[in-house]
Order: sequence, then structure tokens, then C-alpha cells
Amino acid sequence: MIDLNNISQINWANTRISILGAGKSGIAAGALGAHVGADIFISERNDSPEIIENIGNFKHEVGGHSNSVLDADILIKSPGIPNDVPIIKECENQGIPIVSEIEFASWFTSSPILALTGSNGKTTTVNLLHEMCISDGRTSLLGGNVGMPFSENVLWEIKSDIKTSIHVLELSSFQLEHIISFSPTIAGILNISADHLDRYADINAYATEKLKLADHIQESGWLVYNADDPILAESLMNTTRSVVFSLKQNEKCHFKLNATKVFSGDVDNPDILFNFEDTKLKGFHNLQNILAAATMAHSFGISREAIHNTIINFTPIPHRLEWVGNINNVDYFNDSKATNIAAATAAIESFDDDLILILGGQDKGLTDFKQLIPIMENRVKSIIAYGDAGLEIKNQLDGDFMVAFSEDFEDAFLSANNNSTPGDTVLLSPACASFDQFSNYEERGNKFVEIFTKLELGN
Ligand code: ADP
Repeated sequence: MIDLNNISQINWANTRISILGAGKSGIAAGALGAHVGADIFISERNDSPEIIENIGNFKHEVGGHSNSVLDADILIKSPGIPNDVPIIKECENQGIPIVSEIEFASWFTSSPILALTGSNGKTTTVNLLHEMCISDGRTSLLGGNVGMPFSENVLWEIKSDIKTSIHVLELSSFQLEHIISFSPTIAGILNISADHLDRYADINAYATEKLKLADHIQESGWLVYNADDPILAESLMNTTRSVVFSLKQNEKCHFKLNATKVFSGDVDNPDILFNFEDTKLKGFHNLQNILAAATMAHSFGISREAIHNTIINFTPIPHRLEWVGNINNVDYFNDSKATNIAAATAAIESFDDDLILILGGQDKGLTDFKQLIPIMENRVKSIIAYGDAGLEIKNQLDGDFMVAFSEDFEDAFLSANNNSTPGDTVLLSPACASFDQFSNYEERGNKFVEIFTKLELGN
């Protein structure tokens, strides 16, 4: 039996590792494990030709998880796999330690880790943080839930023998399951709102996973969190080594704000970090993301100049309140990544009025779309509800708003276009997943841009 309390003593050459799931992170963990000499076995439920091709030369099984998985000293579980699948229960019964890919990769690097979790805004924030580190002249490796798996970056680091890198990690709640000794230098938590309730029993179970990051910080490290989030404020206020950021109060914040700018130091003699008008990131939610990244970077020791330059030069990431263009004096915004109520709320709040809103897709679990009503009042002119969740959305919101239903996404776009008049804004911020009509939110967002481009060329 291997001793997880003494990882540096493990002789990997004698260790059998089973990996559940042959997605990007599973394969990357396999490559890292094989590099350190372990015996790897990958087990995958799917048996598509692409999956088999990705698995390559690893010992493997596809089409299900057999008891061969149990022939292991340790199990690495991919984040997408729920904890109640029978093979996981069997591993638990047999006392086989289960770790996440994030935990596993962390055993093979001693570089600082800046890790961020939250319900919405993670990708924007980690990209800002990554750019801030680069702008400061560091070798920053961005990974986790975005871009490269952590294991792939760690393997790259080992092979290139670079001793000065920094790992910037975006972590989902799934990736925080099964972490043990993983300990970032700086841990950030952005916000906690209802999401993935198809996988967690309730919001408390989901929040518990996210809050776990706060208990995993290095002794000399810092926790950075959003003091405006009620769950975070209540759960984390007694954390000793913590720094907060906030849109509502300046107390205890390193970076403070007034109506037009972010600054540090004294209110009467402010040291200005940037003026709101100098960034291309739109909306208060993005201001929150900027404050989170800047506070994490500052706590780590990134220079003020690098933080400033990044904020000024940063281009919004596609599918996150991305301005696509203007036809006949109507603006089109693609926020396909807004797959829950909190994200759609943030997007809608970023506009003043005359919005034509496209909602719909696949419901993530009995969503109460009425929660959007207060924020939509005075802003939204009409709603186009589409896809699997479309009729339910229409049922919930009809009466309060004009709601049209289109089964198909393209029809929904055309209906929004038909309903618009000069001065309006068409916003796709669907508050639902995309999987009923697309493979992922990127494909949905790309379709939005494609239909827009066709219309624009036809004009
Ligand atoms: P994540 O990686 O956590 O999913 P993204 O940066 O990809 O976050 O943004 C996801 C969605 O959430 C986008 O639609 C975006 O407009 C919205 N969003 C971004 N930042 C925030 C925030 N701080 N609070 C609420 N919603 C946000």
C-alpha cells in the first residue's frame, strides 16, 4: 500500500496507477505517470475511435470500467466522472487511494501555484493573472480547467528543466474533489452561486467543494476572496492569511475603487492603478474579475506596472460578453459561456436598456428563470427562448415579458434580428448549457458569430 503522507518516498517504478477517464487530463496524467516510471492503465466508458486514438500506447480498456481498474496502488479520477459510479465505490471498499489529476500533478512540481476557483469569471480572471505574470517577466504556465491540463504543464516543466516557472490554475469544483496535499501559494475564490446542481445534492454541497481551496494554502501563502459574496464572507472572514477584494467597500482591500477608477493607498492621495474607461472588459462583473486577478498578483509579488499594463491591454475572451459587431445600428453580444443564472445576470446588468435577450438550451437542473426578472425589468424589451428549455422559460417569464419561442438556435437568432430596431442590443446570454443542440458552449458561440457574419455580408 502506498503512503500518501510520504509522497517523496514513493518509488514510482513499482507503482501501478489506474486512470479513470481518457479525456485530456486523464491522458496527461498518464503521460506524467509514465514519465516518472509508473505502470499506467487507463479505463474509459466511451469507445469512440477518437478516444482510442488519444489513448495511444497506454494499457487500456474502453466501453466500460472492469475490475482490472482495481489492480492498482492508486486511482486517478478524471473530474467529469461522478463519485457514485460503481467502480469508484469498489475502489473505496478496497482501500485504493483516489486522487484527482490536480493532486497527482502537484506531487511533481515545487514551483509556486496560483489557483483560482469560483462559479463564474474564472477563465477571464486566470487569463488576466497569467498575463500579469508574463508581463512581469515570469514563465507562467496556465492550466487546469482552461487550456492545458496541469499534468501536461508539469511534465513540460520537468522535461525543459525550468526551475523558475509559476503555475496559474483554473479549478472547477469537480477538480477540487479528491485533493489531499495540493497547496497553492495563492488561492483565490471569486464567487459562489448555484451551478452544477445536476451533480451536487444542493448549493451547500457545491459550496463545500469550492471552499475546500481555502484550507489548502501553503503556510506562507495567501487566500484572496470576494468580500461581496455572502457565502464567502460568512465562511472565510476568520481566515488569518487572507486579503479581500470588493466592489462595495474599501475596508481591508488592497485595491480600492471609487466611481471612475481603481487605486491603492490613501483616498485623498490615491495611487491610480487604472481608470474604468481604460479597459476593454465590460461590466461590473469584469471589474470584480480584474480586482481578483490584481489582488492575487499583488499578493504574490507581481509588479504594479505589470498589473497595470495587463489591465489596459487585455482583450475580452471569446464567448464571454464578446462584442461581435453591429448591423443596422444593433449591437450583437455573444455570451454563450453564461450557462447559469448568475452569469446571465452579470451580463444583463452590464447594459442599460433595449435588450433583446436570447435564453435557452439545456437546463442544468430545474432552473428558476424568474430569478432574472428583477434584473431584466427596464433593460429587456423582449426574450427569445430556444431549445429544450425554451418552452419552460416561456412558461415562467411570459406575462412579465414578451417571450417568443424558437426550437432551433438559428431561428432564435433570426427572430431576435427581426424583432430588433436601431439602438437595440441583441444579447445571447442563455443561462443554460448548450448540449441539446451543440457539443459545447464554444460551438454555440461560434454559430452565433457565423449567423451574424452571414447577415452582415448579406446587408
Ligand atoms: P468560468 O470560467 O468561471 O466559467 P468565464 O470567465 O468563462 O468564467 O465567464 C463565464 C460567464 O460568466 C460569462 O458569461 C461571463 O459573462 C460571466 N461572468 C464573468 N465574470 C463573472 C462574475 N465575476 N460574476 C458573474 N458572472 C460572471
